[in-house]
Amino acid sequence: MLNWKPYADLIIHNAIIYTADLSLAEICSGNYNFPVIEHGFAAAKDGRTIAVGSGDWRIYAGSDTKIIDAKGLPLLPGLIDCHIHDMEFGLEQMGMDFSRCLSLEEMQKTITQYVKTASPGSWLKGSGWNECLWDSNRPPCCKDLDKFAPKNPLYCQHISHHICVTNSLGLRLAKITKDTPDPEGGSIGHFDNGEPNGLFYDRAAIALLEHVMPETCEEEHIKALETSGAILNRFGITQVMNSMMTCDEMRAYLQARKQNRLSYRANLMFSLDRSLGDVHVQAERIKQMTAVTGFGDDMVKMAGIKIILDGVMSAGTAALREEYEHISGRGSTSYSSHDLKLLAQLAGKYHWQVGIHCCGDRSADMAMDMFEQTCHPQNRHFIIHLTLAHPDQISRLKASDISLALQPAINTELGEQAVIGQKYSNLYMPLQTLFREGIIVGGSSDAPVVTCSPFAGMASAVERRLSDGSIHRPNERISIRQALLMWTRGSAYLCHTENTCGKIAAGALADYIIIDTPLLNTSADEIRHTRVLHTILGGKTVYQI
Ligand SMILES: [Zn+2]
Repeated sequence: MLNWKPYADLIIHNAIIYTADLSLAEICSGNYNFPVIEHGFAAAKDGRTIAVGSGDWRIYAGSDTKIIDAKGLPLLPGLIDCHIHDMEFGLEQMGMDFSRCLSLEEMQKTITQYVKTASPGSWLKGSGWNECLWDSNRPPCCKDLDKFAPKNPLYCQHISHHICVTNSLGLRLAKITKDTPDPEGGSIGHFDNGEPNGLFYDRAAIALLEHVMPETCEEEHIKALETSGAILNRFGITQVMNSMMTCDEMRAYLQARKQNRLSYRANLMFSLDRSLGDVHVQAERIKQMTAVTGFGDDMVKMAGIKIILDGVMSAGTAALREEYEHISGRGSTSYSSHDLKLLAQLAGKYHWQVGIHCCGDRSADMAMDMFEQTCHPQNRHFIIHLTLAHPDQISRLKASDISLALQPAINTELGEQAVIGQKYSNLYMPLQTLFREGIIVGGSSDAPVVTCSPFAGMASAVERRLSDGSIHRPNERISIRQALLMWTRGSAYLCHTENTCGKIAAGALADYIIIDTPLLNTSADEIRHTRVLHTILGGKTVYQI
């Protein structure tokens, strides 16, 4: 090594270091008291931390060592979001944003703006509408949109990403008529007279639209990763688990990395998307995948297989044990128990980690049956969302070493009615119980569903404040130390990176953030508004104020 020097490339000193340096075994036995180093320093070389402490940092410094004075502010490990759609998030930043629309009229106005500069015939994509924020409280239909985009087909995703609406032109191009049958695992919305109303529920149905849209090219995908990377780094995120990846997207991650345009570590999950075929097609896909869990390196790595087993509470598509309170039915699952078991057996045979999207309690029952019957705990299977958790389910999670990827900010941001409803309120996200039972919980956002800010997630977990100002089940609040461990140790475990990430320790990768807020001694509100001043990935600055 021609340029090798015997001293650090980077030293950050004068910091209060929240090391998060605890083993998973310690956390599971109730120790959340990670070392905090006052007047500390961290030294990094070749992308790794070589020393952490409070002594004399100068002994690690050479003439060209980069030295950062943290000015007494907190230094944390780079944060890890273990369930995010970072590619989609980036692509959406490039389209119409309906998330701030407080009425249908505002959504229509946003479309009108975009149509002005769009070439006739091109698909206009947007996302983020949420009828729960509107007085009308009903989702838009094709007729609401037609006159605002007469020459452009529309693809407008609900904030949950489990509903999409198009205009009549979009319906025509996708050849959807009153006679089009619902695909398995999804449904098409209709007016009372049987004509399609432009709404599509769940992935399998939304795919009917996507099939007639032009494919996203590689450069667009790479741009999306750059765009989301800039935002993730701004919020202190240096690693994610992407939960719905296609082959095209996987190539884009590698290209982005090669071109130095990827500014965070990506763990990629293959999705067994019902829109691609039935259980036999999916089984074949598992057999033919050539990269398995763990394949890759520190920057881009295969994480596992994601199975979306049900929908979301707000759309009435999460699979529940009992009837919904506001609509009839109990929701449905995209695979039967039999099919799910078949997929899990194959996944187990080929050593895949499996993450299952379960918003309802019935789908979670099915996922646990499957994990118990067919899977090795060492594969680190996990449930994504687990919006509702009964005591009997918590016991099963513990007994079978099933972990969780949870998103505390969803409730706060979308409103509790949208997420849980009154009837199930007492079952919603019992965080303190989960910690007490020693279940490993990773922190995540599900962005672009809600903000990717881990500090918003931590504040929600610590506070549990509802939109009416009341505190939801105060006994289930967790401490900020526990919340930090979710976005560091818990998420790193799910990504199989706990030996190198999610902590500041000698030998670990040099992913750091400097923040402006002393998280350990402050209010939930201040936690929520924490600003990241500096984000470092593998010893290199990727964001700085
Ligand atoms: Zn998701």
